Amino acid sequence: MKKIQLAAIPLLSATLFACGVSNDNKSSENDFTHAYQSITDATLKAHTKTLSSDEFEGRSPTSKGEQVTLDYLIRNFKEMGYQPGNGNSYLQAVNLLEMTASADMAMTIGDNRFEYKKGMIASTKREQSQVSVTDSDVVFVGFGVNAPEYDWNDYAGLDVKGKTVVILVNDPGFENPDSGKFQGKTMTYYGRWTYKYEEASRQGAAAAIIVHETAPASYGWSVVANSWSGPQYSLVSDNGNADRVAIEGWLSNDAAKKVFADAGLDFAQEKAKALQGPYHKSLKQKASVTVNSTMKKSVSQNVIATLPGSETPDEHVIYSAHWDHLGKDESKDGDQIYNGAHDNATGTATALTIAKAFKELNVAPKRSVTFLIVTAEEQGLLGSLYYAEHPIIPLDKTIANLNMDAMNVLGRTKDVSVVGMGKSELETYLAKAASRQNRTLTQESRPEAGSYYRSDHFSFAKQGVPALYAKGGDTPIDEQTAAYKKRAKVVITGCYHQVCDQFRENWDFSGVREDSQLLFEVGYDIAQSTDWPKWSASSEFQRH
Ligand SMILES: [Zn+2]
Repeated sequence: MKKIQLAAIPLLSATLFACGVSNDNKSSENDFTHAYQSITDATLKAHTKTLSSDEFEGRSPTSKGEQVTLDYLIRNFKEMGYQPGNGNSYLQAVNLLEMTASADMAMTIGDNRFEYKKGMIASTKREQSQVSVTDSDVVFVGFGVNAPEYDWNDYAGLDVKGKTVVILVNDPGFENPDSGKFQGKTMTYYGRWTYKYEEASRQGAAAAIIVHETAPASYGWSVVANSWSGPQYSLVSDNGNADRVAIEGWLSNDAAKKVFADAGLDFAQEKAKALQGPYHKSLKQKASVTVNSTMKKSVSQNVIATLPGSETPDEHVIYSAHWDHLGKDESKDGDQIYNGAHDNATGTATALTIAKAFKELNVAPKRSVTFLIVTAEEQGLLGSLYYAEHPIIPLDKTIANLNMDAMNVLGRTKDVSVVGMGKSELETYLAKAASRQNRTLTQESRPEAGSYYRSDHFSFAKQGVPALYAKGGDTPIDEQTAAYKKRAKVVITGCYHQVCDQFRENWDFSGVREDSQLLFEVGYDIAQSTDWPKWSASSEFQRH
């Protein structure tokens, strides 16, 4: 943790001058100040209240609530004078695939037949009602990582075609924070389960099974069993996701220990070897897995609106926020609507409010400013993933992405929390904008949770576009705010993804306002400059 902060300081000071960040490049300081101050608590509050009202039905993709949401967003962008971002349209269609695995799935490894949701869980992203692997060789591939920048490849010299790979969760830095491996406790993308399945797919494995461990996963087995047993979403692809590994599964820790023991190996010892360096080992057993699924296809929409630049309109700064949330559950007693006021009516409200501020300028910024309000974030960042894989604005003309998700309704803060701190030069712009507010940048409070990989900016990062996700930090501005925060935080934390995440009149929007002004200034400065902010050398992302 400390290492990251030390590394970030020279980066910030060294690039401050190079990036030309200064007040001089604002066409008119008065013009900027007027636009900056047009961002108010009242506007942010009003949009949040509307978007999270029952009329929007929890904004589930493909529901009636989606249409109400799209109408609201398009009407606002039109009224502000924004141009459609996709030809004549403000919409980009996103084709979703929903796969629900049935409980009759079977997984046998060696002599062990593991029980559904107790010892194992599995699903598939392939568009097939049944997928199976039979008598497939089982190989332990350590962390399942192929990371050239860390000189680490667990698959080196190994052919896993048709085989079943067993993979540890997180990355080699987590349990060895002082070893200098990866980023210590801070999770890199190589630690995310999404990565493990993607890499196993690239390697041509038939099945990929992650071993659950509570500390490095940061959640217990029950979370795995519950979240993997319902419908799983992905994007519809031309090849029916045939390039994905057929079986994506998890083994409980006890189940995994049995598999290792039957191979005459000790799980803890093998894990210790995998922590030392790139590692793989045959588990000398065969796996057979069958998963039956039902499938459903549906179409949802991203919203995209642009303010053309006054000098280089083909270059864009893209703000993103997800409009979707969890919809409603008619089988529930009492309140059935997941209003998603905090997650993410606040981020969508922020996008609309920043968009309005740009229109308050007498002269539009030199570069274009585009707002991308995406769908299906809650199903796995699918709207932004689709956009990044089918970009409307070429990625090599996309200077930066600034993301807004679940804004800070806990009052003003002395600090700005940067999720994934140290990753890019965008932090130089952020630090400068924060200093106007007498705020400093801090690292997110739980970097081991891998939050940088869990909202829509990540879809841009994966494609090499520098992406920033930052919002109010942990230190309240004063005692009164601290007291308010203590009360309000109980609700925010307890209502995460619950029906009680609903708008409250007593929410303090001054923190959202300050963060909105901050992100407005960051986007403005980038749009006024001719610079191309870069990823830092230690980041796992680089421009393609
Ligand atoms: Zn969210």
